[in-house]
Amino acid sequence: MQIASFTLTSGPTMMSDRVRAALGAQVVYDTDPLFLQRFTALERRLADLMHTRNDIALMQAEAVVGLEAAARGLTAPGTKWLNLVSGPYAGWFGDWLRSCGGEVITHEVPYDEAVDPADVERILAEHGDIECVAVVHCETPSGMLNPLREICEIAHSHGALTVADTVATFATSELRVDDWHVDIGVVAPHKGLGATPGISIVSVSPAAWEKMDANPHAPRGSFLSLLDWKTRWIDSDRTEFLHAPSVSDVVALDVAVDELIDLGGIDASIARHARAAKAVREGVTAMGLQLWAKHERDSANCSTAVRCPEGVTTEQLSLHIRERHGVMLSLGRGSLKSEILCIGHMGLSARSFYPQVAVTALGRGLADLGIAVDIGAGAAAVAQAMTEPLGLPVV
Ligand SMILES: *Cc1c(COP(=O)(O)O)cnc(C)c1O
Repeated sequence: MQIASFTLTSGPTMMSDRVRAALGAQVVYDTDPLFLQRFTALERRLADLMHTRNDIALMQAEAVVGLEAAARGLTAPGTKWLNLVSGPYAGWFGDWLRSCGGEVITHEVPYDEAVDPADVERILAEHGDIECVAVVHCETPSGMLNPLREICEIAHSHGALTVADTVATFATSELRVDDWHVDIGVVAPHKGLGATPGISIVSVSPAAWEKMDANPHAPRGSFLSLLDWKTRWIDSDRTEFLHAPSVSDVVALDVAVDELIDLGGIDASIARHARAAKAVREGVTAMGLQLWAKHERDSANCSTAVRCPEGVTTEQLSLHIRERHGVMLSLGRGSLKSEILCIGHMGLSARSFYPQVAVTALGRGLADLGIAVDIGAGAAAVAQAMTEPLGLPVV
């Protein structure tokens, strides 16, 4: 098979030429003063973009490590959690909590709906002693967005800590860590920022550090330990790493942040993603397909899931589009794998006419397999939506 011409997935996603060029730079020694300075400045730059004064730990592995570290750091046998489940990632988070002996109250909603903050309020009031609340801001494989701000404010008002999987919402949707009381937020470079998989960007509030520090079961002396980053890096003048960081991934992430700023900053990035998401929704609907989200208001800006029409399987369709047209789209994850196809519009793929490629490839692929769709109407709708003025830089 030839290499894909377009990777328009729920992440990892494509990188810009500028980020790719950064990956080709010479590898430097991790305690080279220039690299130390760059790494430390990058922590603060990311914190500013996340609207937080909290510490940032750049754990040197894909975002799942940051999420598992948060789960294990905060959980001792008996720690009472409320886990809000609207998709597969939240389910996996609950598995970590239970494996640490956590007492987990699971509130699950249908995967084509968002969590209702009123339910969070009710459950927290009913129990009274829930210590932590976990929520996935956007379940990327299904493109469903939860009302993170309302959920975290309610949790905070009940004295519970919040852990938010904001892996794909950073730079694609509004995210205000401090104002919204997100105690631990985890972000990945390979989603909205358009850099490489390989780093977990973890923001940790003073209250979350305190709870971890008081937890004798929190990982220490371990690759999964956030506390190691606190004691051996953050509180030790940031002069010596715990282990050699992935310097190339760090440099690529730094350049992705430069590019985001040069393209107008975080709000411009969010506006670009909102436009791409709207374009894809309008395109697939105009083609005659059905969106996965029950209510459009619960749709995320980073990815859009489409219900697979009858007469074709998701695997058959995505493989055909990949082989015949060189376009990689995503399948759903977990139980959604056979139900939906997911178009990613993150970083580079939210710009220019990438959304057009995704929608047209989906339409053409379906037509190839004998499913009637109006490709022309879909293409026209995307072109219209992508050229509506943002009042912001469009590249
Ligand atoms: C991408 C993503 C992660 C990280 O997991 P990978 O699939 O390994 O990249 C975690 N949570 C969410 C919501 C994500 O979108």
